[in-house]
Amino acid sequence: MNFLEERIVKDGIVKKGNVLKVDSFLNHQMDIRLFEQIGAEFKRRFEGKNITKILTIEASGIGIACIVARYFDVPVVFAKKSQSINIEGDVYVAEVESFTHKRTNQVIVSKKYLSPEDKILIIDDFLANGCALQGLISIINAAGAAVEGIGIVIEKGFQMGGHTIRNLGYHLESLAIVDSMDPTTGAIYFRDRSQGVHNAENSECIN
Ligand code: 5GP
Repeated sequence: MNFLEERIVKDGIVKKGNVLKVDSFLNHQMDIRLFEQIGAEFKRRFEGKNITKILTIEASGIGIACIVARYFDVPVVFAKKSQSINIEGDVYVAEVESFTHKRTNQVIVSKKYLSPEDKILIIDDFLANGCALQGLISIINAAGAAVEGIGIVIEKGFQMGGHTIRNLGYHLESLAIVDSMDPTTGAIYFRDRSQGVHNAENSECIN
């Protein structure tokens, strides 16, 4: 097990509905030493890539993205969730269905902060069905910028997102891939990185 998998086993809580709670170190209270290890590991995995900006989505991606950005020495832009139906033309917009809240948000990024010259590293805490990532990718495409890589802290490998995003040809690096988890016993099983097969549940995003 790597440093993150060890921490997930120690402090993660398996909830019903395929939800893994990591509030004590990632999503609510934040362990910044752990975030630094995460930043260093993403830097290693995306070594040689010319990254000009990190893009994430509010709220839980922001803290992680800020620490990761120190290792790449680039700014962070986060997509804002917006309730407004009167969005003006100076923003890129995507519809994102929230896995945890089961509702659809519009997320927006100002056109000022993404340009066709940008080479973007997307960072997020979780990958489940891939809806958040697909929204961010569509915003980057609308800006004419390039997706250089995608760094995910925890991928739930039994949901479709990772499979879909890799099939689209993106360089996706997940620091821990959970292949199964059991809410009754609390057991969490990680993907053996030497094996590439998995059975993902079927699910769809709206994008
Ligand atoms: P997706 O869009 O890939 O379906 O879900 C990704 C988003 O949903 C992440 O940004 C994360 O905030 C949230 N999420 C998905 N699964 C989990 C989970 O098991 N635990 C927590 N804490 N958040 C999750």
